[in-house]
Amino acid sequence: MKSVTGKDRTILSLALLFLFINHTTFIRGGENTGSPFIEYSVSMARPSDHLFHVTLSCGNLDMDTVDFRMPQWMPGYYQIMEYSDNVSNFSADGGKAMEVKVFKTGKNSWRVVPGKKGSLKISYDVVAKRNFVASNFIDTTHAYIVPAATFMFINQHTDIPVRIKIIPFIGWNDIATGLDKVAGTDYEFTAPDFDILYDCPLLIGNLEQLPSFDVNGIYHYFKAYKPGTFNRDLLISGLQKSVKEALSMMGDVPYSEFTFIGIGPGYGGIEHLNNTTVSFDGKGLDKPGAMLGMLKYLVHEYFHNFNVKRIRPYELGPFDYNRENRTNLLWVSEGLTVYYEYMLVRRAGLMTDEELLSCFDENINTVENDEGRHYQSLSQSSYETWDDGPFGNKPGSQDNSISYYEKGPIVGLILDLAIRNATENRKSLDDVIRYLYWHFYKDLGRGFTDAEFQQACEEVAGKSLSRVFEYVSTTKEIDYSTYLSYAGLKLTEGVDNKSTKKKYTITKQDNLNQSQMSLFGSWSGNLKPKVQDQQNQ
Ligand SMILES: [Zn+2]
Repeated sequence: MKSVTGKDRTILSLALLFLFINHTTFIRGGENTGSPFIEYSVSMARPSDHLFHVTLSCGNLDMDTVDFRMPQWMPGYYQIMEYSDNVSNFSADGGKAMEVKVFKTGKNSWRVVPGKKGSLKISYDVVAKRNFVASNFIDTTHAYIVPAATFMFINQHTDIPVRIKIIPFIGWNDIATGLDKVAGTDYEFTAPDFDILYDCPLLIGNLEQLPSFDVNGIYHYFKAYKPGTFNRDLLISGLQKSVKEALSMMGDVPYSEFTFIGIGPGYGGIEHLNNTTVSFDGKGLDKPGAMLGMLKYLVHEYFHNFNVKRIRPYELGPFDYNRENRTNLLWVSEGLTVYYEYMLVRRAGLMTDEELLSCFDENINTVENDEGRHYQSLSQSSYETWDDGPFGNKPGSQDNSISYYEKGPIVGLILDLAIRNATENRKSLDDVIRYLYWHFYKDLGRGFTDAEFQQACEEVAGKSLSRVFEYVSTTKEIDYSTYLSYAGLKLTEGVDNKSTKKKYTITKQDNLNQSQMSLFGSWSGNLKPKVQDQQNQ
């Protein structure tokens, strides 16, 4: 071995540079392989104007015309968002001496006719003013990119791999996202297709990292913009215990790492496969009630990585980004996720039996005081949420709708108690959720239909559950006392002094028999169901 002189160093550097360029071309272009490629770049030089500038370069597209579309919605938020309204200055460039024609062919579509097949560049601006978990936002402090609101797909070709490069505003040094980072870069990421790209928002700025934790050797991170001052260890410890319960219940860890991304003040969170983006500012978390509420909210978004992202209704994937994706089963995807947010936090030992029961009190009080329950079934509320608004509360209309976030967990409770009662407490709703995961997601790689969901419940129960499913498909009044009594519980009705609305409270019956005690114990988490004990051994 000999030492390297200055001249040698220059030659070596050039050689390395050459190797690097070749390597980069290979990864980037797919030009060596002839496969189609799409590369996006987003810059944000003028954050006070609330604008992203987006450029796209694509190649090896065997198309005479290329139809670019901006999604109409993003999975997880079942509302038409009209993202294309925020696009301006769309232009296309086919390179030297290549005439390119651009036609607007619809509200969210642009047709580009390149001079010849091959490569193409387009660029456009995106207004990013609404600080909301399903919308783009940028100001002088930070930026939040919702990929479905930012990156156009080529119609019918959402399966093309995509690479994105973010050019953060000067002084910003961090990006939180579930996307895979390109090795050796700080701000470049890849996705194997547009479904994954649209599943991974990006939070950009000077971010803080809360303590991370591992469960079974898998790391969970929490990155946030201005998370505030509170007992971070307490929050993370609660989160870790609840995640552990979820993974123990499912018997599988479907991701290599998971990131909670706190986007700052606001309302709501959206679930993704290996991350969740949540409005979060840490305010008020010194109060135990607020801390418990925050934990339930985070566990809800987390558990969605199973229920809806993997365990999903047949209609929710592959997605059609051009229109509403209607399903009767959002009560399963959302309502049962609310149910499990309560159950997992209880099983983790983070709330008492009374606190658990009061969660259902709130749902029952909302549903039973909602006139909409006479007009709309749970499955209708799922199907019509695109028209009714995210919580069944479309302003200005007569109250003829309900929210699956409220009635869904009630039916979840009734379903769980009915299954436990029918099987002498040997099986539960957990078995249904596991079956849906292992059978439909893992084995068949698809979602389930309405009939398949009911069939799964009935197979686990070993009997017909048609009476329970009437609470899904009709507006029939719920017979609470029958199902609650399986667990030694009862519902009492009173009147709220302030609002004069009906007020319901679930309490324990006085003298429980052996079967009621045992069912209540295993349901509420005091006694683990047998299947979990087996998994934990
Ligand atoms: Zn949800």
